[in-house]
Amino acid sequence: MPILEVKNLKKSFGAIHAVQNINFSVGAGEVFTIIGPNGAGKTTTLEMIEGLVTPDQGEIYFGELNWDQHAKTIKQKIGVQPQSSAMFDLLTPEENLNLFATFYDKARPTEEILELINLTDHRNNHVKKLSGGQRQRLAIGLAMISDPDIIFLDEPTTGLDPQARRNIWDIILQLKELGKTTILTTHYMEEAEKLSDRVCIVDQGKVITVDTPSALIEKLTKEREVRLSFLDGSEAAEQANLFSKVLESVSRTERENTSLKLWTTNPEDTLYDLFGFTKEKNYQVEQVSIREMSLEDVFIAFTGKEWRD
Ligand code: ATP
Repeated sequence: MPILEVKNLKKSFGAIHAVQNINFSVGAGEVFTIIGPNGAGKTTTLEMIEGLVTPDQGEIYFGELNWDQHAKTIKQKIGVQPQSSAMFDLLTPEENLNLFATFYDKARPTEEILELINLTDHRNNHVKKLSGGQRQRLAIGLAMISDPDIIFLDEPTTGLDPQARRNIWDIILQLKELGKTTILTTHYMEEAEKLSDRVCIVDQGKVITVDTPSALIEKLTKEREVRLSFLDGSEAAEQANLFSKVLESVSRTERENTSLKLWTTNPEDTLYDLFGFTKEKNYQVEQVSIREMSLEDVFIAFTGKEWRD
């Protein structure tokens, strides 16, 4: 049985249909990422699941539990990353954790949480002195304090620099090792691809698709983009272009000056044939690269939109 199941969720704010029809289920121990552009309905979806916003329609099950009948038990099972404003700036991380611990029947030891979020060295500094990344780590610690089974993190890395983002990724991976289920929202494709067991792409309040990152990429296409550049100028690139166009494995080509891009389902065979041709003609190839499709390509293919962070 899934640890969380969401069926036909809907929520409007006046004329804005924030969430139009969201369905998914999450297995225990998964990192499940909801990804989508600004205003796609990610936060509203999360807040309905967390019991903070009442859905207009739809059902939310934590195993056999639902908000109407089992709110108290659900609250013990889930951990929600608080907004930065919910932390006490004039207290230290340790004091914030100890205070939040008093809200629950059971709590994970503060020491352990400080270690997990890598704030042991800053345990006695006032929160207002912490960097953005450190505050976000503390927010995750506060979500962890009741030792919940499911942790909700709403855009925990937005606005952070690459190193601070990676530090958060490490914590999410540690949560997974602890057997926790993490439901994450993000704008960052790279993050979704690196961390998630499964990704749910939402756009305009609807689920576009749900699958593992690799299956999504596989589903989209088995094609690879191959790029070559030639030392012998544009004539060599054009001849190679004409040669490639007729290869069976090549679906399309693009030439620009001395470089050639081609899309092939079988890069090994394509390159073998192409290098046979360049050797015969004595053309010198300066650079070759094969690009894997990314989750970003998947998003563009499914929604027809460019990705913007
Ligand atoms: P972002 O990535 O920018 O946080 P999101 O995917 O989380 O976006 P939501 O915050 O869920 O999207 O918002 C979905 C839509 O609902 C947006 O058009 C937003 O303006 C609107 N919305 C959300 N909350 C409210 C509210 N309380 N009142 C009115 N409109 C709202």
